[in-house]
Amino acid sequence: MIALEYLLFAVAIGLYIWLRYRPEHVIVISWIVTLIIAILIAVYVVISKGQSYALYWLATFPPIAYFLLGGKRGLITSVIFFALCFIFLTQATDDWESAPFTLHSLNNIFIATVALIIILRHIEQTRAEAFHYLEEHSQRLEYIAVTDRLTGLYNRAKLDSALSDALRKTKHHQREFSVVLLDIDHFKRVNDTYGHQVGDSILVELGQLLRCNVRSTDVAGRWGGEEFLLVLTEHTRQHAVMHAERLRHAIEAYEFRDGIRITASFGVASYRPGDDESSIIKRVDQALYRAKDEGRNRTISDAQ
Ligand code: GH3
Ligand code: MG
Ligand code: MG
Repeated sequence: MIALEYLLFAVAIGLYIWLRYRPEHVIVISWIVTLIIAILIAVYVVISKGQSYALYWLATFPPIAYFLLGGKRGLITSVIFFALCFIFLTQATDDWESAPFTLHSLNNIFIATVALIIILRHIEQTRAEAFHYLEEHSQRLEYIAVTDRLTGLYNRAKLDSALSDALRKTKHHQREFSVVLLDIDHFKRVNDTYGHQVGDSILVELGQLLRCNVRSTDVAGRWGGEEFLLVLTEHTRQHAVMHAERLRHAIEAYEFRDGIRITASFGVASYRPGDDESSIIKRVDQALYRAKDEGRNRTISDAQ
């Protein structure tokens, strides 16, 4: 038994090195480890002829098999292992003597229980780590799904859902809400003069400016290209126009990278009973179009 344990110790080190350098072979290695443990327990039971409560070690096999091979394979392997043990024990135990409960038995039970606790603790730790990883991963995916890659603001998909949410809440609770659509004036000229990369950094800086100028309950996002949409909950038209004007002045006064200055035109539309997503967006678009038409760098609302 001792010779076998030394041999298996050397094998375990070999398997560990194998796993370190070829982690993609983890399934094969898991099968080998499970098989070795099954053999080790079986040999121990046979050699000791069941003395010192050796059968107690059988209980450590299913958790190891489940952990290393997964639910289905762990179950099948455990059933096969116990079926073979059962067949062997019913055939070969005739010459076994009854095992008295000695200090050695107590020691054996104690060691097997510690081994079982260590295995279960390891299983639980790995499960908690996997859960934590999945949670982080899903948060990251959620972030990517709602974020515009360039500016870090919300993206079009999130704006669409924020708009639907705001409409639903407004209809339910008969509250106010407004949307503001802003479009940078003559942005093509900025790209043509300074290059597309500088244009990109200006969009990023504008994103930061917008983020600093909306309340946490409002949603600011990139509608597309150089257009940004704000969904302002509980804002009357008058409030939204004031908000847009504040932003317009802030953009006009802001010195972007390389001392570049830009202006933006704003459209404002407020909720009207019977509105849906497309009707309110159509009005804010028309308001923005008029702001452009009337000379840019101004705010026009759907009431004007
Ligand atoms: P207007 O005042 O009428 O809005 O003029 P404009 O030049 O801003 O509008 P136009 O629609 O003619 O052009 C929009 C420009 O915005 C052209 C396009 O290259 C630029 N643009 C759109 N998306 C991006 C982007 O992600 N990065 C950069 N650098 N430029 C962009
Ligand atoms: Mg545009
Ligand atoms: Mg533009």
